[in-house]
Formats: sequence, C-alpha cells, structure tokens
Amino acid sequence: KINIFWFRRDLRLEDNAGLYHALKSGLKVMPVFIFDTEILDQLQDKSDKRVDYIQQALANLQRDLIDLKSGLTVYHGKPLDIFKSLTEEFEIDTVFCNRDYEPQAIKRDQQVKDFLHKKDIAFSDCKDQVIFEKNEILKSDKSPYTVFTPYSKIWKEALQSIETFAPDFNNLVHISNPKDIPSLEDIGFKKTEIMFTKPSLDLKIIKTYGQYRDFPSLDHTSHLGVALRFGTISVRECVQFALKHNETWLNELIWREFFMQILFHFPYVVTHCFKKKYENIHWRNNEEEFKAWCEGKTGYPIVDAGMRELNTTGFMHNRVRMITASFLTKHLLIDWRWGEAYFAQKLLDYDLSANNGNWQWVAGTGCDATPYFRIFNPEEQTKKFDKELKYIKKWLPNYDQPKPLVDHRLARERALEAYKKALD
Ligand code: FAD
Repeated sequence: KINIFWFRRDLRLEDNAGLYHALKSGLKVMPVFIFDTEILDQLQDKSDKRVDYIQQALANLQRDLIDLKSGLTVYHGKPLDIFKSLTEEFEIDTVFCNRDYEPQAIKRDQQVKDFLHKKDIAFSDCKDQVIFEKNEILKSDKSPYTVFTPYSKIWKEALQSIETFAPDFNNLVHISNPKDIPSLEDIGFKKTEIMFTKPSLDLKIIKTYGQYRDFPSLDHTSHLGVALRFGTISVRECVQFALKHNETWLNELIWREFFMQILFHFPYVVTHCFKKKYENIHWRNNEEEFKAWCEGKTGYPIVDAGMRELNTTGFMHNRVRMITASFLTKHLLIDWRWGEAYFAQKLLDYDLSANNGNWQWVAGTGCDATPYFRIFNPEEQTKKFDKELKYIKKWLPNYDQPKPLVDHRLARERALEAYKKALD
C-alpha cells in the first residue's frame, strides 16, 4: 500500500503541513499534481500567466524530487476521474492534501472524499494555507468577525507559537525514471513572459514597508502575492518574518486571512454584495466606458497607468488597484463584479477571496468597507502618491491623454446620488 500526497495550492516541499503528515504516516508517499480541466477550461485566454507560473513551479518541484530519488506524477483531467484511475492502478491507504477554502474547491474535495470513502480509502486534509482558518477566530458568540480591526486583534492574541513542518523525505516513493511533467502545449496553453523564481523574503523591503508601500513608483512591496496564492512560499515563514521585522506587513497577511474567512462563512459574496441593500444600486454599466477602463484609456493618467501595468505585467500596485477600482465603481458607476472579473483574468496573484473582498471594500458594498461617500479623487491621489509622476510616466511613456471619460465633480455627485437612492 502507498499514500498519495496531492499538491494543489502548496507547490513546495519545505514546511508543507500536508506533505509532512503524509511522510510521517509510515507508508511510502507518491506525490501527484492534477491540472484540473474544470479550472483550466474556464480560462479564456490560453496565454495565461498563472498557468505558466504553475507549470514552471511544478518543473522546479520535479527537479527537487528527482534529487530526492523520487518524482512528481502530473495528470491532466477532472480530479474525480484521475482518482478513479489511480485507485485502479495503486493500492492506496490515504490521500493527503492541504485544505482549500474556496467554494469550488470545497465541492471538489467533497466529491473526491466521498468517492475514496466508498473504496475504503481515507482522505486527510491539513491546515497549511493560513495561520488561522475558518472557525478558529470567532467572536465570543461563535459568529464570524466581519470587521477587520477586532478580527486582527484576536488573531494576534491567539497567535502563540508557529509550528514548522520539516518533512522526512526518506519516505517518498522511489522513482527511477520520473516522467517529464506536461508542457504548456500539452495542456492546451501557451508560453508567456513569466519567469518563475523561488520566492524569498526581502528584509530591505519588509523593514521599510510601512514608509514606502503607498508610493507606486517605488514598487516597495513584497510581490509575494502569487507565491502565497500557489503556496510556493509558506505563510508560516512569512508570518514569522513579519513578527520579527514589521507589524504593518503582518497586518497585510492578516487581511488575507480575514477575507478568506469571509468567503468561507459568506460564500454568497462571490456573486452578491455582502451588504444586501447595495444590490439596489442602479449601475450604469456602459460597455464602451468599461472597455476604455480595461484598456487604460479613461483620460485619467493614474487610472490609465494602473491598467497598463496590469495588462502588461499581471501586477498592479495596491494603491493603484484602489484608485482604478474606485474609478470604475464610483466615477463610471460600473458594477464592481465587472471589474472584479477583469482583475480575475489578469492578476498573477489573483485570489478569489482577496479580489472579491477588496473590490467590495472599494465599492462600499462589502463587509468592513469604506463608507460609500468616500470617493477617491484621482488627481489628489496622484499629488499625494505620485507627485513627480514617475509611475505615470513609466506606464504611459508616450501618453496622448484622451479626453476624460467623465468630469470628476459630476461623477462624484452622480455616484453619491446613485448610492443614496439605493440605500433609501
Ligand atoms: P504586499 O503589500 O507585500 O503584502 C503581502 C501579502 O499580503 C500580499 O501578497 C497578499 O497576500 C496579502 N495582502 C496584502 N494586502 C491585502 C489585502 N488588501 N487583502 C488581502 N490580502 C492582502 N490581493 C491578492 O492577493 N489577490 C487579489 O486578487 C487581489 N485583488 C485586489 C483587488 C483590488 C481592487 C484591490 C484594491 C486589492 C487587491 N488585492 C489582492 C490586495 C493587494 O492589492 C495585493 O495583495 C497586493 O497589492 C499584492 O502585492 P504584494 O504581493 O507586493 O503585497
């Protein structure tokens, strides 16, 4: 008999809780990964930077596993079908993995678990992606927090020590001729310009994060979003580093968990406003204006620069994410779900809970959101955070500024009215 370790959003060997428990179980462990067609088929753009990132991260894992005289077996299909054939090919005792809290993943795991159960195979999932998950930080009446500050206070109080998981790699199955992992072409995708490098924590950035993080031209944030998304870095390692060097950065990691537990407890936020009343907002949803926003042609340089950064690199600085999102929802009165979907297509660090939570936060429809009457003024934001226009010039070197789609003052009045009307 063997055990299986199923890699998903945890593409690393070090400090991997599920892998650690699998290797401790006493049986040999076969590592597998599944390119899930149910996810891949939803991606319209076949030059997807995330898929490229995953493929390269897997190649990296494969090299490390070969050094350990083992190997990663990579499949392409529906997880349930893959497990059906795995159970025919191998005598499996337990399938280990790390828990995923997104609604679609919960459903998938339940199906696999039910199937394995019928075959008398155990399914053992571990906490790895977060420090505190779903029901670990609750109010005294056992209901979830919906406001960040008290949540983060209790989160910090609950944090005693951080476990690390050092796996014993001697228990990996021995594989003498591991198969190559599938190329992007094999799974119907194309190469992008993304280069995977092993993520690391940069002391210089983290130490001075609080001072510089808000200035997009300085690009002084960790860029670890994608690594946290796909687990090429351990969140425990990040939190330990944050505790030692910078509490402001720690708070960002807590925001990540805050929105994850919101998604877990209130899965309706995927399609609906957290605050139900806001469903009454009468969005203008002008398609041409939406297209102009996507393409960075709104006539507001800071917004256009942000969208160009996103379209070119798959990244956008957090300050500019807030400005562009506010512009779409308030200035153009376009439904936050349109913007959310566009970011979801483009962001390398796209994460359902963080993207949804932040979009709703900016739009004022979410839990713990900015009050709806706070409307970013793009020019004021530029004066404050890109005074010398360095960021704008970087992303719009030959900018032929189009006529602004809308006048700021008019847009502000219009948004206030639409929101007020919805809430009356
Ligand atoms: P750093 O500033 O170095 O922060 C470290 C890590 O903390 C991030 O990598 C991320 O995991 C977490 N984090 C930081 N800020 C937030 C936040 N506000 N909410 C949740 N987690 C946070 N973040 C995503 O990870 N995925 C998304 O899809 C996403 N969409 C966003 C959409 C909008 C409209 C806005 C305003 C923000 C969004 N964010 C999202 C949050 C934030 O902008 C990014 O996490 C951050 O810019 C990523 O850069 P970094 O890795 O250098 O982060």
